[in-house]
Amino acid sequence: MKYHVWTEGCQMNVADSQRVGSALEHLGYRFTEKPEDADVIVLNTCVVRQSAEDKAYGRLSSLRPLKERKPNLVINLMGCLVGIRDTDTLKQRFPYVDVFSPPSDPGPLIAHLTQDESYLLDRTETQNRYAVMDDELLIPLHERGKLVSAHIPVVYGCSHACTYCIIPYKRGIERSRPVTDIIAEVRSLALQGVKEVTLLGQIVDRYGKDTPDGPNLSKLLQIIHEEENIKRIRFLTSHPSYFDRELMETVANLPKVMPHIEVPIQAGDNTVLANMKRGYSQEEYRELVAAIREYIPDCSIATDIIVGFPGETEEQFMETYRVLSDLRLDVAHLARYSPRTGTVSARRMEDNIPDQEKRRRFHLLEELQEQIVSEINAGLLGKHVEVLFEEKVKGRWKGRTPTNKLVFVETDRDLLGKIIPVTVTWTGPWSMQARLNPELVSLPPVKEHSR
Ligand code: SAH
Repeated sequence: MKYHVWTEGCQMNVADSQRVGSALEHLGYRFTEKPEDADVIVLNTCVVRQSAEDKAYGRLSSLRPLKERKPNLVINLMGCLVGIRDTDTLKQRFPYVDVFSPPSDPGPLIAHLTQDESYLLDRTETQNRYAVMDDELLIPLHERGKLVSAHIPVVYGCSHACTYCIIPYKRGIERSRPVTDIIAEVRSLALQGVKEVTLLGQIVDRYGKDTPDGPNLSKLLQIIHEEENIKRIRFLTSHPSYFDRELMETVANLPKVMPHIEVPIQAGDNTVLANMKRGYSQEEYRELVAAIREYIPDCSIATDIIVGFPGETEEQFMETYRVLSDLRLDVAHLARYSPRTGTVSARRMEDNIPDQEKRRRFHLLEELQEQIVSEINAGLLGKHVEVLFEEKVKGRWKGRTPTNKLVFVETDRDLLGKIIPVTVTWTGPWSMQARLNPELVSLPPVKEHSR
């Protein structure tokens, strides 16, 4: 028996898919790259923008003929297209789907395959399927021993309600996972060879704030830091309003916590930020970036930006352009505003920036950011950086620096899971190349950033 998983969207979905895969393998299914060979197909979907939702529909339609040819095929629609609410409309629209599962919940699929209803969550309780799954089953067999870097959800859902965002409607209210569950998962992953963990949450720096007696993110990082076999720790996504000095100090003081912060600004203009209900101003964001750089000197910073939010004028857009130009961040994930049914902005604000104009703004930021990142990365030419190697892709080893920059090294040596200092020989905006220098293995890492 074979299964196939298709994943769209955020790292939370990647983590969810991994969990479904391992649950299926526990039931005796084996992974296949080819959907046409599979007995079970999981589509793990994203609806954060219309383009992602359209991809899910495209995939779904493409499975219809397969299901007609193979009536025993089990199709599981999972993730944010399903959401936490009732699935009747989806069931009517896609009658050939066998199982509907909300984000982060493999339960309905397992219940369907085993005919055992005990896998179904009581949705009146705090939804936390992961906690009840066997610790040894976190990584699918076909990835065990190969997976160097794993994602661990630490906060489910989101209660922030940014006006454009559909995630709270699809993933439910904010729920921090108990620290004991997280540690059990970290240990289990470490036993299976994982070297790096990335803690996930829609607003990860709110970890613990919904459970007054639990640890906060700083404390959680300190606890995970004690795990000997985990060599690197990351976390994302942070919200500017919750990123406090304690967290900056924690990142600065714990050597395994990597100097890379993902903290979206979304827009540079204060009126647009207020319309988005983000809860901070451009000035506050600038101060935050300055503080992060002061506390964590070699820190790289990533941001997210939405262009063409309802009513965004040219002048307001140029505020975003100026902030990005001034701050010289390491990564900017750009998106064109996409109205999402049910959100405040879709209900109350007209999507009045033409697509053409959204594209123009997008490209302006894209060009600016490419220039900035090219310059930042060029500063690394000839420098030594420590890279954790994750996999071999087309003959080259692929890894990441502490600041999360992508590095490729050509070598016959087996670098899987190793952290090795290398010398950068070529840099581009999206990746770099480097060569091994074994004589440096015993030297301390060299400062990576030169801005
Ligand atoms: N919770 C995280 C990630 C949210 S989704 C956060 O708050 O940052 C990832 C990104 O998608 C967001 O940061 C935002 O830039 C983008 N996004 C969310 N909703 C969107 C929408 N309706 N239209 C366009 N981009 C959107």
